Amino acid sequence: MPETTPAPRSVLVTGGNRGIGLAIARAFEANGDKVAITYRSGEVPDGLLGVKADVTDAASVDAAFTEVEAQHGPVEVLVANAGMTKDTLLLRMSEDDFTQVVDTNLSGAFRVIKRASKGMIRLRRGRVVLISSVVGLYGSPGQINYAASKAGLVGIARSLTRELGSRGITANVVAPGFINTDMTAALPEETQKGYLGSIPAGRFAEPEEVAGVVRWIASAEAGYISGAVIPVDGGLGMGH
Ligand code: NDP
Repeated sequence: MPETTPAPRSVLVTGGNRGIGLAIARAFEANGDKVAITYRSGEVPDGLLGVKADVTDAASVDAAFTEVEAQHGPVEVLVANAGMTKDTLLLRMSEDDFTQVVDTNLSGAFRVIKRASKGMIRLRRGRVVLISSVVGLYGSPGQINYAASKAGLVGIARSLTRELGSRGITANVVAPGFINTDMTAALPEETQKGYLGSIPAGRFAEPEEVAGVVRWIASAEAGYISGAVIPVDGGLGMGH
């Protein structure tokens, strides 16, 4: 058995100013890690190092990493969490609706992982956790852009595992179901009711229930798990 996770590590959570990302940041903070978050606007939550970054802009991502490295050292745990939706049915979905979501959710993850990998290779250890969605493999009407971006994260994690697995680096996907955040609060009540009816657990989840799983998959205990897709969805996506 490996020892318990040595702390403090330099942890970076993209989009960690609110929602699931903030809960993840707090979980690592409770573990004693040095936690930084990226944000675009608003306030930095108490106790966390906030660095401005837009994941659609490689220069902005680079500047954010440089700041985190200066204050906390090379990023050892990266959580690619920043994400967005722009839902509409296929026939109404513009090219821009598609590319904007993919550029944020999928290319954004690529940008931060690429930047983080340099330090992890030098350290000869690292944990990459990509926040996908049950929708990535289950599919969802009105979310062709979002589902494509979230399914793509699985390809990133598995290819990264094959490229860098021998360097002490793991890459895993956490696929939440319906979590109570601003993103889901924006869905019409009918859509929310529809989801509730098909979730075996019979309820939605809180961001903290995702955060605990992310913290564990980044721990020393989970060091031999890589390229996995871990559902946190109350059974919604079973079998996909
Ligand atoms: P929220 O909408 O509450 O938060 C989204 C976060 O992503 C914010 O911090 C936002 O920053 C950030 N973000 C969005 N676009 C960019 C960008 N271009 N550059 C940098 N940061 C950006 O979402 P959730 O907390 O609900 O979702 C977090 C992740 O979990 C997302 O990837 C989402 O797809 C995924 N997920 C959520 C589920 C849910 O049920 N809520 C289910 C499955 C997956 P800002 O505050 O500046 O806008």
